[in-house]
Amino acid sequence: MGSDDIVALVEYAPPDAVAGRRSVATGVALAAIHLGACAALIPALFSWSGLAVAAVLYYLTGGVGICLGYHRLLTHRSMRLARPLEYVVATLGVLAMQGGPISWVATHRAHHAFSDTARDPHDSRRGFLWSHAGWLYRRNPARLSRDDQNRFAADLATDPYYGFLEASAPWWQLMLALALFSIGGWSWVIWGVFLRLVVTYHATWLVNSAAHLWGYRTFRAPGRDRSTNSWWVALIAWGEGWHNNHHAFPSSARHGLLWFEFDVTWWTIELLRLLRIAHDVRVPSQAQSQRRMIARARRDLLIR
Ligand SMILES: [Zn+2]
Ligand SMILES: [Zn+2]
Repeated sequence: MGSDDIVALVEYAPPDAVAGRRSVATGVALAAIHLGACAALIPALFSWSGLAVAAVLYYLTGGVGICLGYHRLLTHRSMRLARPLEYVVATLGVLAMQGGPISWVATHRAHHAFSDTARDPHDSRRGFLWSHAGWLYRRNPARLSRDDQNRFAADLATDPYYGFLEASAPWWQLMLALALFSIGGWSWVIWGVFLRLVVTYHATWLVNSAAHLWGYRTFRAPGRDRSTNSWWVALIAWGEGWHNNHHAFPSSARHGLLWFEFDVTWWTIELLRLLRIAHDVRVPSQAQSQRRMIARARRDLLIR
């Protein structure tokens, strides 16, 4: 079942007053994490091992956990992994501290279902700052209530492990921080937790902001969708910057479709497929790609 099918099954309820409140806790937590990351500027807190820990965790929690796990696997079901491995990948996603898998997946499915409309949780028509981070903590009528999250991600909400991850999400970060502190002291905590989280946040957020504002469009995506392909967002966010391709083919495990569109997450999936760890990997057929491209060319001619 692809994300299109899943979203089609959901009967969407209008945003309610609870969902429309400011999220003060999120705002305070994000501010504190950014403040903590500033400590990386203190020379005494730098170590080469801390930098290496940050880089490895950036790939594992951002590249594998969020891009491959939360996004391409859990949200869009663009491949299949054995259930225990799926749980490991989702647990890496929790360590990026972007919430549990149920709320993340539900919010992202709503983004695809209502891209760039008032119902999109991070509607890019409201400007860069809103779609980048403001939507997370400011009053947001399109934020999903708990009930809506459970409906949009019903396949995950009925799984006890994902329910557990959703409830325990922040504690995983605390455990990781304690483990890093016990081995590498404050240097590993500042670089491996605070700075790594901030870099991962902005990489993820740029997909919602920059990759709906700047770049080129290969395909005509459905509806009022303004998604773009951005090489520099793809560079920072493990291939997720080929976002116009992704909106055109949400169920595809591969986002970089042209030869120069490098996609590190896809390379990881390809490796897992070659090792027979990933199965049923979905990619658009050439005929599908050509149909979408022709539709876009026709529309451009009509506009002129
Ligand atoms: Zn998008
Ligand atoms: Zn998506």
